Amino acid sequence: MDYQQPQQWVEIDTAAIVQNLREVKTLLKAGVRLIAVVKANAYGHGALGTASILESQGVDFFAVSYLEEALKLRSRGIKSEIMILSPVTEEEQVMQGAQQNITLTLASAYDAQLIDRVSKRYELSLKVHLKIETGLGRFGLEGSEALEICHSLSENPLIKMDGIYTHMVNASSTDSCQQQFSLFQATIEKLQACGYHFTWQHCANSGVLALYPHMQMGAVRIGTLLSGHYPAGVSGGLKLMDPFKFKCRIIAIKKCRKGSTLGYYGTYRLKRDAQIVVIPVGFINGLALEVGNPPSGWLDLAKIILKTILSFLGLNRFTRSVVIQGKNYPIRGKVFMQMALVEIPDDIQLSRQDQVEVPLRKTLVGDGIPRFYRYQEGYISEEDLDPTKAELIVGGRIYA
Ligand SMILES: *Cc1c(COP(=O)(O)O)cnc(C)c1O
Repeated sequence: MDYQQPQQWVEIDTAAIVQNLREVKTLLKAGVRLIAVVKANAYGHGALGTASILESQGVDFFAVSYLEEALKLRSRGIKSEIMILSPVTEEEQVMQGAQQNITLTLASAYDAQLIDRVSKRYELSLKVHLKIETGLGRFGLEGSEALEICHSLSENPLIKMDGIYTHMVNASSTDSCQQQFSLFQATIEKLQACGYHFTWQHCANSGVLALYPHMQMGAVRIGTLLSGHYPAGVSGGLKLMDPFKFKCRIIAIKKCRKGSTLGYYGTYRLKRDAQIVVIPVGFINGLALEVGNPPSGWLDLAKIILKTILSFLGLNRFTRSVVIQGKNYPIRGKVFMQMALVEIPDDIQLSRQDQVEVPLRKTLVGDGIPRFYRYQEGYISEEDLDPTKAELIVGGRIYA
């Protein structure tokens, strides 16, 4: 590593991102456009770094959830088309979107009026994609609403209705996907019959692309596959690589006797003499956090209960662990806000310089933690990354 190391950092394997892109492309039919979803800091991989690398490899369309994310990519030099996947709510946002050439989502009559009004008042041209509601229950236009909006916006030459899309509820359910797909197609046909045509029609996320080739339409919106894995409940033959490693340094080492208890409430009692290592990672970084959504069914509920019981019994496979010097060691006791304890056998030689690799949920690792991108000769930080020269990193060289 060429950099003064911070206490915690993330290493991103640039070659893995490139490989995942290549694998995803093998699924695409000729002419299908890839919209790379880099929301939530590119699922933890660093939005600017990931977008730069993908752009250097020919990706020319990105999607994020919110305007702020899009503006950040633009201001740091991403030139490709960027669309946002949620509607904007303020005049100011419409103006910024238009000025920075961000493609907006139009998901309600309110959005249509707002965009229409702002574009006329300030003479701003805008590109929009219509979002159609087909079952997710988040936001989107019903078929008849879409038609009315097309009628009213067609009188405003500043607004280009460039795309139309929907989002699937559950890729693993063929029936529900097919139903949504049919409804989406019927809506498009109805609009076409009235003379409204859209350059980009899209409905496929990672799971849908992996399972239903006929749903690719003109474009696909892919995030999870590019970040190196299949979505939950979906599998396939792509050779995907996880580019993400969270690392930190040991901040303290001490010897503890058999029988001593560790952490708040003394929930863990050492079964033998050991070294206890303190690492600067806690639930603030997503360690030991689970997303607390309701279980998706009885089976899911049973799995959650079973996992909790097994982890309470201290069964190894269900104990969280970290990697030091290439070996796994268990986290003991309750995880603290910003620290955790690791048990290491007495006879292992440790140094403060040892790196600790901690498996974390990537999206929960905050964007304040620096990302470093690996290339052949070393690492470059996301801050130093120049999108116009990212191909040099992919090629294994640093900037000439
Ligand atoms: C997050 C998101 C995607 C990407 O989904 P993946 O399953 O991660 O590929 C696509 N479309 C919309 C609207 C999304 O919110």
